[in-house]
Amino acid sequence: MSAAPATSTALVWFRRDLRAHDHAALSQALARHGRVYCAFVFDTDILDALPSRSDRRVEFIHASVLALHGALQALAARGGVPGGGLIVRHGRALDCIAALAQALGVSEVLVNRDYEPAARARDAAVASALAGLGIAFSSHKDQVLLECDEVLNRQHQPYSVFTPYRRAWLARLDDGQLAAHPVEPRPGQLAPPPVPERLPGLEELGFARTNLGTLALPTGQDGAQQLLRDFASRLSCYHEARDYPARKGVSYLSVHLRFGTLSIREAARLAWPHAARGDAGAQVWLSELCWRDFYFMILWHHPRVVSQAFRPEYDRVQWDDAPALWQAWLTARTGYPLVDAALRQLHQTGYMHNRLRMVVASFLTKDLGLDWRLGERHFAEHLNDYDLAANNGGWQWAASTGCDAQPWFRIFNPVTQSRRFDPEGRFIRRYLPELARVPPAHIHFPADMRPQELAACGLRLGEDYPLPVVQHASARERTLMRFHFLKANAA
Ligand code: FAD
Repeated sequence: MSAAPATSTALVWFRRDLRAHDHAALSQALARHGRVYCAFVFDTDILDALPSRSDRRVEFIHASVLALHGALQALAARGGVPGGGLIVRHGRALDCIAALAQALGVSEVLVNRDYEPAARARDAAVASALAGLGIAFSSHKDQVLLECDEVLNRQHQPYSVFTPYRRAWLARLDDGQLAAHPVEPRPGQLAPPPVPERLPGLEELGFARTNLGTLALPTGQDGAQQLLRDFASRLSCYHEARDYPARKGVSYLSVHLRFGTLSIREAARLAWPHAARGDAGAQVWLSELCWRDFYFMILWHHPRVVSQAFRPEYDRVQWDDAPALWQAWLTARTGYPLVDAALRQLHQTGYMHNRLRMVVASFLTKDLGLDWRLGERHFAEHLNDYDLAANNGGWQWAASTGCDAQPWFRIFNPVTQSRRFDPEGRFIRRYLPELARVPPAHIHFPADMRPQELAACGLRLGEDYPLPVVQHASARERTLMRFHFLKANAA
């Protein structure tokens, strides 16, 4: 590490990077400056906009910020000098950071780069406020493996299709890109908050506790390590197990990647050597991490996707206005058990398995004929791992409006998907106890049961469990017409 001038002071502003190791901005700050403060802002611009005062994400962040505070103190104590810790503010980031940087007398504020349009605007405003105070602002690549302009096609343009992007991405990735950014402060280099900090409680931030503590979702950087270790033993089976929601086949690391309690490089380092040796599980998992970079890249280059179809011609799709169907989807009462179970998983835990996200999104757009933006917003409110880039990309993929979209004539059949990916209905039964006694042959579509079969398992269709709100076959035809019409009019 290069020797830092003993006199200069910096502030590292943590956002979605809540860990004290393998951290680009902190590593840079320690290399460049003699003394480094660390801060986190509970940003009221973000918190005030949340629709509920009981939000698992806020609780996750709160717990992870407490853990980060402790981890920074422990790092400082390793050098034999007490110090470290986080300065925590509750207010508008724009005001808090500039005021804090000025009060601390720092010469530079360092952050890890954010790719969302609102965050980019916020960072530009902070940078300009700091510039007015004569304080530098720098942002660093940390959240992605490869930067948005590091993977370009032969014409030096961003890719819009995943497969060639992944090929180029894999060719570009190397040990250097995956190397950890060391966080090794010298004794006394991590500065303690100028006045001892009492971190605000969740209630002081205006939020109530959720059921987060009852879920198998450990928080903070140690929680991430726990899940990563657990997944390491299952990595080589990932490609076979990942599509079955009743199996423990995936990593469940998305919320940790979302809030940076896990470094994306560390995640990739787990898979990289195995993938290079041909391990199919590791290769497929690495590919999922590539999807993550891909959608960040798309959002960065095309911020209009936040509200518009990636392919502009698809903004002319005429979605239906059907409040009753929307309510059925929203309340998990569509009469299609896999769809309803998936939505209940989302509402009860804040998580939804990837296969089910695809099924549920396809159902909303292709079976109910509703605008993908409705579903996208609902996911945004409920997903613990909600990430604008991945969520928008996933919804546009399912609605066939996005880049590398599911072709519009390929429409998921929710019953076939259910038979294939939850064959015995184990997942369905977990979230729809009212169907617990329905035999596997009928659990995927109870509406097909005869009266005596219904009586045998004590199910009253239309009362205990809803009748299907649409028939898949006719809904499918309507969707084909909808997209055909668009194509015909475009020709
Ligand atoms: P794993 O299967 O273990 O995958 C590992 C990691 O790869 C994930 O944690 C995630 O960071 C990344 N990843 C996997 N698949 C994708 C993908 N398709 N796009 C981008 N990154 C991916 N993912 C989010 O992180 N936030 C979202 O808001 C989000 N919304 C989605 C909405 C829809 C409609 C769809 C179809 C997918 C969405 N995804 C989203 C992608 C994916 O479903 C989740 O990342 C995954 O289910 C998280 O579980 P996991 O960590 O166990 O994943």
